[in-house]
Amino acid sequence: MTDAASLPGQPRGGVLSGQATARAHCVLAPNPSAMTLDGTNTWIVAEPGSGSAVVVDPGPLDEGHLRHVLSTAERLGKRVDLTVLTHGHPDHAEGAARFAELSGTSVRALDPALRLGDEGLAAGDVVSTGGLEMRVVPTPGHTADSLCFHLPAEGAVLTGDTVLGRGTTVVAHPDGRLGDYLDSLRRLRSLTRDDGVSTVLPGHGPVLEDAQGVIDFYLAHRADRLAQVETAVAEGFGTASEVVAHVYADVDRSLWPAAELSVRAQLAYLAERGAGAA
Ligand SMILES: [Zn+2]
Repeated sequence: MTDAASLPGQPRGGVLSGQATARAHCVLAPNPSAMTLDGTNTWIVAEPGSGSAVVVDPGPLDEGHLRHVLSTAERLGKRVDLTVLTHGHPDHAEGAARFAELSGTSVRALDPALRLGDEGLAAGDVVSTGGLEMRVVPTPGHTADSLCFHLPAEGAVLTGDTVLGRGTTVVAHPDGRLGDYLDSLRRLRSLTRDDGVSTVLPGHGPVLEDAQGVIDFYLAHRADRLAQVETAVAEGFGTASEVVAHVYADVDRSLWPAAELSVRAQLAYLAERGAGAA
């Protein structure tokens, strides 16, 4: 889910679908739109040489796509042993129950409502299937239930909608909160600094090879937008839709409803910050 506020100078990666790293293979779902960019990236993640794989975000409820994910894993010589979700938005999670049925796997997610089976996902969990090490990193902000998955063996992180391959993401107010989102970006930034993470495997858009640069861009973009919203409020633009029309004038109108969610998140953040300072 993007607000497509792509700015000049932002890194742009290569083509989607196929083997992105030694452990991560992308299967692009056929659901392109202004909100989902090229479509949802479904990831098949496995340790090299292992016959077991984890599927991250089966994607929309599209029988052809779900079967294609399964046949791709088979072609790679992998049996899918587990399905996990970065968050509950339908373009990532709607097909999870059907995929679990097709693959005979359980579904692990932060949100208990999305789980199938006994196990959830929480901070500090490590998903280990067939020798794979995939660390769960809570990254609330886009939604309250957003997670990233860190692959320490190759300095990569699967980011769901927290960081996209193009543009910037929506803070989906009221579930998503800007303060949480900024903290999550800083958490990811510390992975680039302290754990050598350089590759972003996003939920939409191409793979990015400069994780630190992208996260710095996101932090700067959020600060810029917040300053614009603060100025608009000071100038008397009162409602969220008025602020959107003023601040997001350069963004395609089809994205204004999503931008309004981000503006509501920013207005809530400014109100909380004001209350905290008072
Ligand atoms: Zn989302």
